[in-house]
Amino acid sequence: MKKKTILLFTKTTTVAAFLEAFFRDSKKYRRLSCDSADALLEHLSRGTVSAIIAENALLPLVAGRTSETPVIAVIAGSREKGVETSLACKADLYIHRPFLKKDLDHKLLMLIRQQETTLALKQEIHHLQTINDLTQLISSTLDPKELLYRIVKKIAEIMPVTRCSIVRIDWLHKYAYVVASFETPNLTAIKLSLKKYPEIEEALLHKKPVIIKDISSDPLMKSVRDIVAPLGIRSILVMPIIFEEKVIGTLFLRTSRTRHEFSENEIQLLRTISDASANTLYNAFLFSQIEDEKTRLEKLAITDYLTGIYNIRYFYHRIIEEFSRSERYTLPISCLMLDIDFFKKINDSYGHKTGDAVLKEFAQLLKHYTRKSDVLARYGGEEFIVMLPQTATNGAIAEAERIRWAIKNHKFKSLQNQTAITVSVGISAFPNTRIKTHDDLISAADDALYEAKKSGRDRVIVFD
Ligand code: GH3
Ligand code: MG
Ligand code: MG
Repeated sequence: MKKKTILLFTKTTTVAAFLEAFFRDSKKYRRLSCDSADALLEHLSRGTVSAIIAENALLPLVAGRTSETPVIAVIAGSREKGVETSLACKADLYIHRPFLKKDLDHKLLMLIRQQETTLALKQEIHHLQTINDLTQLISSTLDPKELLYRIVKKIAEIMPVTRCSIVRIDWLHKYAYVVASFETPNLTAIKLSLKKYPEIEEALLHKKPVIIKDISSDPLMKSVRDIVAPLGIRSILVMPIIFEEKVIGTLFLRTSRTRHEFSENEIQLLRTISDASANTLYNAFLFSQIEDEKTRLEKLAITDYLTGIYNIRYFYHRIIEEFSRSERYTLPISCLMLDIDFFKKINDSYGHKTGDAVLKEFAQLLKHYTRKSDVLARYGGEEFIVMLPQTATNGAIAEAERIRWAIKNHKFKSLQNQTAITVSVGISAFPNTRIKTHDDLISAADDALYEAKKSGRDRVIVFD
């Protein structure tokens, strides 16, 4: 067991000599001595003193300055006066001279045991208070993202950490996601490669907390030391979150170089937090997983599988909206219909696979040469369509010509012998007496494209 430190506060040499002798050979205690109030405070400020033994005459100097540290008063002479002072100065115990060494030994033992119990109880109260706070926080929101954030925020409040996150484990697909992070309040789930987090892998493997005291010396961190060290991280704590005997995630705490490693007390508190919130976290994880999946499917539903740009379904949805806005506020709107010239030849000479690669590259070029406010989609096959809200014919021509030139001068990576590709473009624009609906706008662009093809390709033709 670690030796307890006892501070002797004496002025009388005989008392000092007796106490010195008592502690000289002690295996249980380490002795510190002082004889002034300043020195006493200095010692106490370090927070390592377990008890003070003070001469009765000096008690008034101790009174009120020790708060947490217990005091034994040594009384000499009148017992009555001594006990009175001892009471007045709120000493925890007194001992009357002459006394046996065993008496002192016994009193110290009692006092230290009492102090340890008090500390343990205080800690427990603090833990319970934290859990109580947390339960209230958890029950005051139904939003799972907000809930996860509140938990990391609470942890960061009670422990001085530089980074604090909650990681969700997806065992089915063998992924880990950071679902909440104190440093980034509005975080959307970030996928983690577990290879870069051996400390998390270790916690998952053994279902036990992993404590890295110092990343620069811990062998577990060897493979990633160069990545973690520049972040200023010194010490790491990974606490598994276990629900129905399965690790569903971890609390992930890191502290900076300037701070010491995690204490036993902090680890215990974190374990309590993890146990108390496992059920809630399980539900929140489930919910955010469904939300993420929903977002993914929604995106998939409006994306063209080959090129990754919007599909025609989304385009229709948007052109209906934009066309009615143009009608209502008499704003111009135009549409480009683009078709790659002689694309069949590309397929015939290079194969369908290369044809696909060309289509992908073509779509990326279009994306680059259209504006953010435009809506670009694959119309089908090697045909693409662009809607230009609040743009009249001249603006549409300028954009179409920019695209035509860019395509013509682009060296397609997928075509080794650098065959040039050209594109024909049909343009329609509203207002126009012959265009009354969004469908009219699209078919007018198609008619213009047909004219562009018929009159020789590699050109831009405007409807009418
Ligand atoms: P034009 O200048 O008249 O447009 O000639 P074209 O050869 O481009 O036109 P056509 O409509 O005759 O041929 C289009 C070709 O595009 C035929 C079809 O096999 C090919 N195609 C359509 N969709 C895809 C696709 O997803 N991948 C590949 N590789 N080819 C496609
Ligand atoms: Mg074509
Ligand atoms: Mg075609």
